[in-house]
Amino acid sequence: MINQPKSILKKTFGYNEFRPLQDEIIRNVLAKNDTLVIMPTGGGKSLCYQIPALIFKGLTVVISPLISLMKDQVEQLLELGVPAVFLNSSLSYEEYQRNIKKIIQNEVKLIYLAPEALFTQRILSLLSSVQIDCFTIDEAHCISEWGHDFRPEYRQLIEIRDRFPSAVCIALTATATPRVQQDIKDNLRFEASNEFIASFNRENLFLQIIPKNDPISQTIEFLEKYPNQSGIIYCFSRKQVDELSIFLEQEGFSVRPYHAGLTDKERKQNQDLFIRDDVQIIVATIAFGMGINKPNIRFVVHFDLPKNIETYYQEIGRAGRDGLRSHCLLLFGYGDIRKIRYFIDQKEEKERRIANVHLNALLRFCETDICRRIPLLNYFGEKYSIQKCDMCDNCLVDEKDLVDITILAQKFLSCIKRTGEIFGANHIVDVLLGSKAKKVLNRRHHNLSTYGIGKEYSRKQWFHLSRQFIQKGLIIQDVNFGSLKLTNKAWEVLKGKKTVMGLLEEERIDYKKEKISEQEYDHTLFEILRKKRKELADTANVPPYVIFPDKTLIEISIYFPQSKDSLLNIHGIGLVKYEKYGNMLMNIISKYCDENQIEERPKRKSKISRNRSKPTQSRRHIIFGNLYNSGKSVAELMNMFQIKQGTVLDHLYRYLLEGNSLRSDGILQLSTIQPQQQAFVLENFDQVGTTYLKPIFDLFNGKVNYDELKLLRLYYLSKKKSGNINDSEISNPDKSNETYMSRKESGHPIK
Ligand code: ADP
Ligand code: ZN
Repeated sequence: MINQPKSILKKTFGYNEFRPLQDEIIRNVLAKNDTLVIMPTGGGKSLCYQIPALIFKGLTVVISPLISLMKDQVEQLLELGVPAVFLNSSLSYEEYQRNIKKIIQNEVKLIYLAPEALFTQRILSLLSSVQIDCFTIDEAHCISEWGHDFRPEYRQLIEIRDRFPSAVCIALTATATPRVQQDIKDNLRFEASNEFIASFNRENLFLQIIPKNDPISQTIEFLEKYPNQSGIIYCFSRKQVDELSIFLEQEGFSVRPYHAGLTDKERKQNQDLFIRDDVQIIVATIAFGMGINKPNIRFVVHFDLPKNIETYYQEIGRAGRDGLRSHCLLLFGYGDIRKIRYFIDQKEEKERRIANVHLNALLRFCETDICRRIPLLNYFGEKYSIQKCDMCDNCLVDEKDLVDITILAQKFLSCIKRTGEIFGANHIVDVLLGSKAKKVLNRRHHNLSTYGIGKEYSRKQWFHLSRQFIQKGLIIQDVNFGSLKLTNKAWEVLKGKKTVMGLLEEERIDYKKEKISEQEYDHTLFEILRKKRKELADTANVPPYVIFPDKTLIEISIYFPQSKDSLLNIHGIGLVKYEKYGNMLMNIISKYCDENQIEERPKRKSKISRNRSKPTQSRRHIIFGNLYNSGKSVAELMNMFQIKQGTVLDHLYRYLLEGNSLRSDGILQLSTIQPQQQAFVLENFDQVGTTYLKPIFDLFNGKVNYDELKLLRLYYLSKKKSGNINDSEISNPDKSNETYMSRKESGHPIK
């Protein structure tokens, strides 16, 4: 039946699967229950009211605060064959009258309005003359004074509900704060049971933070990775925006500035060029991004530190709305913290306190060495239970590159101590390298025992190490003076009670391990299609993404579809788009395939896009854990699922990490090493933790393989979880035997 949400999703929008919560939300609206939707940018909020609008007999009225967004939505809907109009001051008298006529004659399904327009006599009487089934309140946080974008007109919206009691109401926002959510519900008199809060995890965004050493070269190096792709670079000040955009332009990049100091006309022009893919990069202050919907922004660079996590999240959120992998890079410099502190200090007492709390949370996020999604989502009150997302720099550090840097840490830390904890990294590194600089000699620091003890490493390496020591919480940097101070953790390292694992070289990110990587596609065909799309878009005077999303072109360049059926199976091609562009596409594809002797490749109908975690995959570890606990052995699981032992163990490990208990019997039997060695490994887990296996692997000189270590880790954790790790099944080794001394004491690998 065409009226089913799922079939509209495919036939009109050309998508195969709902994104999380969309289906439930649509059903709830169709059942005429008022609905509050909290979903991050790019989550797919629009479909939640657009699909019901196509099913309802009457009209759906959409209240939206920005003219540019309304126009964009209506253009996209018309392109999909969905009759929609907007009414606002940007229309000429004739256009306005034409739209009114369409509404009266029942020719449209959706009408977009600004809130202030809604309460004019003219509109109210217009709406009273037709059947209205749904009021959609987009950007609903505008209702709340606690939101970042309060609009008093939104407060009046409750009146409209009283006037049209039979219309259901759906309110949507990407604002996560509970206070704002409550305000929306109170203002619109919503019941609690109809809230849908999606996860704020944007899993297609790759998050990376690097020390800001040489920002311009770092930015250029980054941009060179993404030729022909759209992106935004955020800067702290207008001056910085102007300078950077001029510089990048001179370097040959396609770039425009955007900030409040430009005229309205210049700003609009630069934004339009960007949206229409005529310009690749926008260098902007925070002012940029509110009114744009461009789904194919492939990267966001923070050239300067954002003010707080909320701003950061909002800004990176503009990338990758289309669900494809997008890269978010932040250059983290201590100078920037000073700048932000300076501005905070100008504020009133109360505001200053709040701003400081926010800044500190941001610094913790920047300096963490665990998965970045954990502190990020935590900030929004969401628990991220996966330990490794495989889509952030910290998760992609290759474990094999981690080495024991305890001695280096000790050198660095004691040098801080001996110079009185009043110097910054520069001076400490000078002393370690045995510099003859006056500032060193004048302070008689050449007489210190730490003078010149770090010569085997370069200045650059020492700086990189010092960043890691900060990230690992061994030192803190005074944000006003830049001086380094030791923490309690540092003392444990100095006393030899703690091992430090880290990287000797910078940027050891293994991008190949990324969970969502770019799909392999035919770049030549993609470029041909992209050019054609741009021509069509220019002729129709709309942005290219309104014609087709990037993903459509990518899928075509993977599968080379050449029949009606296979084109309709491509992401983003519904019936109307097929009618409009099907023949043209098939001509281009067939010609290309003929010339290059390429054949069409089948795309399985039920294939879920690679950019979504497949529910079956992501829940597999739970199935494994439950089966194991119910008595199945590892061997039985291997047989049942036709997989290797290591894979079963990985699933069980993940099951444990998510807080579940696992029975511990049956694991140790699989181990093939000596009980004494087993005991030694287990003992070392106590010392070095279980996150990384590399230290123990090194301790055995690689003679105990990772599978074995994984097995023992699983055993160790399952015991620990049940609270009886000491109640080991292995005969307790004699602690006095030197072989079993912990690594710190022995300092040598076990033979
Ligand atoms: P939001 O308003 O939450 O920021 P949008 O409604 O603009 O998000 O959707 C973001 C992008 O994702 C749009 O390009 C939209 O067409 C696309 N999209 C939405 N739902 C789906 C889906 N189920 N499958 C594929 N793409 C989708
Ligand atoms: Zn991560």
